[in-house]
Amino acid sequence: MNKIQMKTPLVEMDGDEMTRILWQYIKEDLLLPYIDLKTEYYDLGLRHRDETDDQVTIDSALATRKYGVAVKCATITPNQARVKEYDLKAMYKSPNGTIRAMLDGTVFRSPIIVKGISPCVKNWNKTFTLARHAYGDVYKNTEMRIDAPGDVYLTYVNEKGEETRTLIHHFDGPGIVQGVHNMDQSIVYFAKTCFEYALDTKQDLWFGAKDTISKTYDARFRDIFQQMYDEEYKEAFDKAGISYFYTLIDDIVARVMKSEGGFVWACKNYDGDVMSDMVSSAFGSLAMMTSVLVSPHGCYEYEAAHGTVMRHYYRHLKGEETSTNSVATIFAWTGALKKRGELDSLPELVSFAEKLESAVLSTIESGCMTKDLAAITTLTDVTVLNSRDFILAIKERLEKEL
Ligand code: NAP
Ligand code: MG
Repeated sequence: MNKIQMKTPLVEMDGDEMTRILWQYIKEDLLLPYIDLKTEYYDLGLRHRDETDDQVTIDSALATRKYGVAVKCATITPNQARVKEYDLKAMYKSPNGTIRAMLDGTVFRSPIIVKGISPCVKNWNKTFTLARHAYGDVYKNTEMRIDAPGDVYLTYVNEKGEETRTLIHHFDGPGIVQGVHNMDQSIVYFAKTCFEYALDTKQDLWFGAKDTISKTYDARFRDIFQQMYDEEYKEAFDKAGISYFYTLIDDIVARVMKSEGGFVWACKNYDGDVMSDMVSSAFGSLAMMTSVLVSPHGCYEYEAAHGTVMRHYYRHLKGEETSTNSVATIFAWTGALKKRGELDSLPELVSFAEKLESAVLSTIESGCMTKDLAAITTLTDVTVLNSRDFILAIKERLEKEL
């Protein structure tokens, strides 16, 4: 069989622990035998980030801007314990944070639906997409501990040196403060990627924030969305038969629980972080969720929404068997390959990625799955496979489809 040829390389961001092991299996078993895989490889494994003083993370984001499509493995965000474990020179920032700040835009996450795994929320018949703003707020904050009485101000100094000052709080005793920001330009990008995603996928767009309490900050998000909708998107939405609406985040949460799915839910950065874990767990598993960062500069970064599955990795290191679900990582690859295929007009590449996705779903639907899914499936005749054998079972089905 001739391997499928590629034109432009994918930016490949390797990662850590159990997902790094899965990454290798996926390439060896599911990709390299069929595709003349062109990638520009960046090792974002924690050791190599440390050796390069984290420059490799920045380089990988720059490469994504250059080539347009990246696929990323889960990576460790170091904390104190990791600094000790890996004897790190510094407590590096989250690679996802660094990459998102450089690419800007929105992270779109959708559950992967299979027969036999039903959502905890009975009325969720259709999948829906959570769109998380990728810049700012608490992820770019400045924090301070106040240890004695005093005044804390919010101060803005313009380029002429003129100052505007507002009292945040007069402290009578110890406390804490936090400064967060966002930029009109980033909110415009957030809104634009959401409107376009909704149009692309023909789904309604819902957006909620806390503008009743945050009358300047969250209200700015609301107003930018509304203005762009009225001026640039309303006509196209009407034509597509879809709608946009804004309401309080509390109201949105209540509506989501009562809905049947089939919409795009735009969330500010923090809301999206928290809610996407709730949504993916309710649909079955963190490993059954696709995730793509869509940047307004026209680039796409695909990843799994879960972490490096540390507990499984330590078992793997001890030589014990693991049953780690590779679906989200496989879908990161297929998402990236499909996008590369679309951009480079390579229908064979798109079709290969679709067949691989369908092989993954039919493997699970036939009853062959990893332990996390076996614990929640409604199927009765189930075979629990280890990490490698699950990938090999997918390979068997893929070969039949090709
Ligand atoms: P995690 O990797 O999300 O895993 C937490 C638990 O969820 C696992 O122990 C496992 O439960 C279950 N799980 C998650 N993914 C699974 C999969 N694919 N298959 C089967 N079970 C899965 O979180 P963590 O282990 O607490 O964090 C490890 C590292 O990941 C941290 O250093 C963190 O910084 C990093 N992280 C990275 C990203 C990213 O790069 N996108 C995101 C989040 C966290 P059981 O043990 O019960 O089987
Ligand atoms: Mg989270």
